[in-house]
Amino acid sequence: MIVHLKKEIGLAEAEAIAEKESGFLVEEADKFVLITGSGQKETSIDSSKILETFVFENDIQLASRNYIKETRKIKIGNVEIGGDTKNTIMIAGPCSVESESQITTSAEMLVDQGLTTLRGGCYKPRTSPYSFQGLGLEGLKLLAKMREQYGLNIITEVRDATHVAEVIEYSDVIQIGAKSMYDHGILKACGKTQKPVMIKRGFGTTLQEFVQCAEFVLSGGNPNVILCERGLRTFETKTRFTLDLCGVAFLKEHTNLPIILDPSHAMGHAYGVPDLTRACLAMGIDGLIIEVHPNPKVAKSDASQQLNHGEFLNLRKTLDPIAAAIGHKMI
Ligand code: PEP
Ligand code: MN
Repeated sequence: MIVHLKKEIGLAEAEAIAEKESGFLVEEADKFVLITGSGQKETSIDSSKILETFVFENDIQLASRNYIKETRKIKIGNVEIGGDTKNTIMIAGPCSVESESQITTSAEMLVDQGLTTLRGGCYKPRTSPYSFQGLGLEGLKLLAKMREQYGLNIITEVRDATHVAEVIEYSDVIQIGAKSMYDHGILKACGKTQKPVMIKRGFGTTLQEFVQCAEFVLSGGNPNVILCERGLRTFETKTRFTLDLCGVAFLKEHTNLPIILDPSHAMGHAYGVPDLTRACLAMGIDGLIIEVHPNPKVAKSDASQQLNHGEFLNLRKTLDPIAAAIGHKMI
């Protein structure tokens, strides 16, 4: 359950109550938010100290629409998604930052297109130890240069808890990859910052488990969590993964977290990405993240699924009418 405690009781008393109830405490401007396990349906806290109480069926609590009705509004650098914005952000860029010339070409394409947010991995969670693992800190510095030179917002991923602090410093959104989303070291570190965090759903993760990962970050004190569906592993092998749009419908209905869809990793082949992107957008989601590379044939990771610039520009031309049809605006 969640209990809103009056601010005037003070931090020391709020902490003592949280300890007694074995709960998490988040201090907000106008109240203390105490979160206990969802199994708890009542407390012995003196009612004069309580503003409001919320009871839940399961451990989707801070993320639940029963707690906050509106989708959370999240600021990504100089733009906003969620809340009453009806914005769908187009995040684009290569799978990995590979070189200064590559990422500069990508950044310039985004700027020409009026886009705001560049993706690019520097710590890559690869399946094989022999594959390109990313440029690490050198790559983060190149992204920082793109931010400074072009005013772009940066989203880049953390692979493990050892470099969360670095990624927080260099990014506007921290991406937690599908293979890293259960890493509690990462989740807890992300709970201690206010930087937006985008959690990608693991390919064998239930919706309940996925949202509970978000709860780790939310209960740590960071309200800025975004969910990203990027495909599940099913019996099908012709596509890389199977994008769970039914799951997206569930998340839209039951959670208050903005949702970004990743058609690139789901499809695994560039030819299917434009159609899938249009289908995703039609669901009225808060963002899309698309892998685009100046020359996908030589990409050091995820070569087969990255669009070239021409393909990306053709796709973009088709999106505004779809967004307009559902009352959204592409940003
Ligand atoms: C990526 O975004 O390049 C990536 C590795 O994604 P995922 O964690 O979804 O596999
Ligand atoms: Mn990738």
